[in-house]
Amino acid sequence: MQGDRDTIAGIATPVVASSGGIAIVRLSGEDAVAIAGRVFAVGRGGGGRENFQFESHRATYGVVYERDTDAGNASGRKIIDEVIALAFLAPRSYTAEDVVELHCHGGAVCVQRVLRRCLDEGARLARNGEFTLRAFLNGRLDLAQAEAVHALVSAKTTAAADSALATMRGGLTTPVSQARTLCVDLLAELEARLDFDDEMVPLDVDAIAAKAAAAGETVKDVLQTARRGALLETGVTVAIVGRPNVGKSRLLNALTRSERSIVTSREGTTRDVVEASVNIGGLPATLLDTAGIRSETDDEVEQIGVERSRAAAAGADVVVLVVDAERGWTTEDYAIWESEISNNARASGSALLVINKTDVADAANATPPDEVISTFSAVVHVSAATGDNLSSLESAVVNTVSGGAVDAEGGAWAANQRQAEALQVAADSLDRLKGTIAADMPLDFWTIDLREAAFALGTVTGEDTTEDILDTIFERFCIGK
Ligand code: GDP
Repeated sequence: MQGDRDTIAGIATPVVASSGGIAIVRLSGEDAVAIAGRVFAVGRGGGGRENFQFESHRATYGVVYERDTDAGNASGRKIIDEVIALAFLAPRSYTAEDVVELHCHGGAVCVQRVLRRCLDEGARLARNGEFTLRAFLNGRLDLAQAEAVHALVSAKTTAAADSALATMRGGLTTPVSQARTLCVDLLAELEARLDFDDEMVPLDVDAIAAKAAAAGETVKDVLQTARRGALLETGVTVAIVGRPNVGKSRLLNALTRSERSIVTSREGTTRDVVEASVNIGGLPATLLDTAGIRSETDDEVEQIGVERSRAAAAGADVVVLVVDAERGWTTEDYAIWESEISNNARASGSALLVINKTDVADAANATPPDEVISTFSAVVHVSAATGDNLSSLESAVVNTVSGGAVDAEGGAWAANQRQAEALQVAADSLDRLKGTIAADMPLDFWTIDLREAAFALGTVTGEDTTEDILDTIFERFCIGK
C-alpha cells in the first residue's frame, strides 16, 4: 500500500448524517492544489475567479461547483456548497505534501458531494490512515508518533489522550532510539572487527557488555509502561457481584453518577447484567451490575440473570463482591464468595471486597473470616448512598489491575501492544547477548543477537520496518486520518 504518489482525498471529520457544523474534505499530493482549483471558486459564486492561487496557511471563502457539463461556463454551473478552502503547501503540512482542506457545511450530504467532485477531478479515495502513513513515509512523524495519532483520536479518557500526546511529542521514541543507537554502534564495532581483526586494538569486552546492558535496561524500562498502555487502550471490566439487596445497583449508579441501573428494595430486581462506561482513576472502565446471585430461585428469568452474572464475573478483569454492613456477613455471602471468587480460576488478587451501607451500620459487622479476606486484594468500606469512600474504591480498582503501574494523573507515555512485543524481542536478544559474551562465543554470535535487538527496536520507531507492519498499523485508522 505504501509509496504511490497519487493525490488522495478523504473526509477528515466523522461521517455522521445529523451532526456537526463543519465537515472537512482533505486532499494531499502533487495535484492537491490543481484539483482544489478545479472544484473551488473564490467568493459567493456567479462567475468567481477559478484556478484560484492558493496561499499556504490562508483561509479563503468560496464555493464548490457541480461538475462542468456546460462548456466551461462557470456562472451557469450549480453550486454544491459554500466552503472555506485552506491550503498547507509542501513541506509545511501534515503529510509534508501539498494539502488542501475544504471546510464544508456539516452533515453527510455536502461533504460527500464535495468529496465526489474531488474524485471526479482525479483524486483517489484515501485508504485508512493514508494521510498519517504519508506523514510517516515523508519523515514528518516516526512510527511511534504515527501510532499515537490513532491512539489520540480513539482515546476514551483524558489519561489515555494525555498518554497518546506524550508519545506524539516523542516520549516513547527517545529512549527506544537511544537503545537502538547503542546496538547499532556496537554492531558496527563488532563487524569491523570481524573484517579487519588483525589491524585493530584488542576488544574491550567489559565496555561492550556494559553498553549492551545499558541498552537492555532502557528497553526494560520502556516495557514497564506497556501494562499501563494496554489498560489505557482496552480499558478494564469490573463486575459487581453479591447477593440481592446489598446495594450493587446503587453502587453502580454512584460510580457512574447516574440512574443507569434501577435501584429498588425488592429482591431480584436487576434481572440481567447492566453495563455502564465510566472513567475510573483515568482508566476507561466498563462496570457490570449483575443480577443478585441467589442459587435457590424459582423464577426462570431471574435464573437466567444469575447465569449471566456468573459469566460476566468470570470474564471480568476485576470482581467486586459487595456485602451489606447492616445485614452482616451471611452464609449467602460466603456461598457467593466460594463460587465466584474462591473456587473460580480467577487471577489471584483480582477481587475486591466492598462493605456497603456504612452510613447506617458499622463495617465491622460484615467483616468475613481471615481465610476469606486473604483472597481479596483490598477491602473497602463505602456508602453508596452518601458516596463516602468511593474514591478509595476507585483507587483500589486501579491498583488491582495495574499493580500500581497507573497513576491517576495519567500523562506519561506508554508502549502499546505491538511495541511491547517488539521491545520484548529486543530485551530477550540483549539478555541472550549477555550469555553469549559470558560464554566467550565467537563474535558472529554476538552480532546475531545485536542485529535482532536493533531490528526489533527499529520496528518501534520505524527506522526499520516492513510493508506488513505498516499495513497492520494503518488499517486500524479511519479513512480521513
Ligand atoms: P442490589 O439488589 O444489590 O442491586 O441492591 P440495590 O442497589 O437495589 O439496593 C437495595 C436497597 O439498599 C435499596 O433500598 C437501596 O437504596 C439501599 N442501599 C443501597 N446502598 C445503600 C447505602 O450505602 N446505604 C443505605 N442506607 N442504603 C443503601
